[in-house]
Amino acid sequence: LVQTHDIAVGFGGRQVLSHVAITINPGEIVTIVGPNGSGKSTLLRLIAGAVKPDHGQVVRRPGLRIGYVPQKLQLDPTLPMTVRRFLDLPRRCDDATALVALEEAGVSPAADRQMSELSGGQFQRVLLARALLNQPDLLILDEATQGLDQPGSAAFYQRIEAVRDKLGCGVLMVSHELHVVMSASDRVICLNGHVCCEGTPDVVSSAPEYRELFGTGTGGA
Ligand code: ATP
Ligand code: MG
Repeated sequence: LVQTHDIAVGFGGRQVLSHVAITINPGEIVTIVGPNGSGKSTLLRLIAGAVKPDHGQVVRRPGLRIGYVPQKLQLDPTLPMTVRRFLDLPRRCDDATALVALEEAGVSPAADRQMSELSGGQFQRVLLARALLNQPDLLILDEATQGLDQPGSAAFYQRIEAVRDKLGCGVLMVSHELHVVMSASDRVICLNGHVCCEGTPDVVSSAPEYRELFGTGTGGA
């Protein structure tokens, strides 16, 4: 779906990513793990087209549709906004499309509720629903389980696997919940400004580069 070649990105003279070469294949769930500030969000934004590389190339399959859930969402909590209205941002969608996306995200009864009244888990699923509106070939999720407890996160990742099975899309996500996310991933990329190690969850969790960053336990980063 997408390939990056020898990517470098810097901000104000500070190098954030260097020599990053990764590939995301159709139907594959790939998780990026790494410490705070290691360039995870920057890499997702680069792949989504929101950041330009200083060096290297991002090659996307022609016509690739991307669904993107950002790490931070600017939403004024004092403004009333129903879930249905929220799905119309930034582009209007029809009711049938909205309902299908809410069902796929596992939150279909929520359409008439206020965004401000949703639980953390429901809110994240509405963000997922919005990212599914355009039937993406590649779903990009930046810490989509932030604020959820472990059972909530596990349920969310199960839903992601169901979405992948139904749509056949590739999934590229960032998570801090190392233990929970490993079981939902086909491949894990450990990032610290550059790719430290990459492979199946088993291979990465026993790699020395990974253990150096996260220790040998299964806790968070
Ligand atoms: P976290 O785990 O905290 O979300 P991250 O791995 O996602 O961290 P990034 O958000 O990619 O890290 O940021 C990597 C570095 O790049 C940080 O030092 C950050 O301050 C810097 N950075 C990111 N975006 C910008 C920007 N638009 N302008 C300037 N600096 C930026
Ligand atoms: Mg981030």
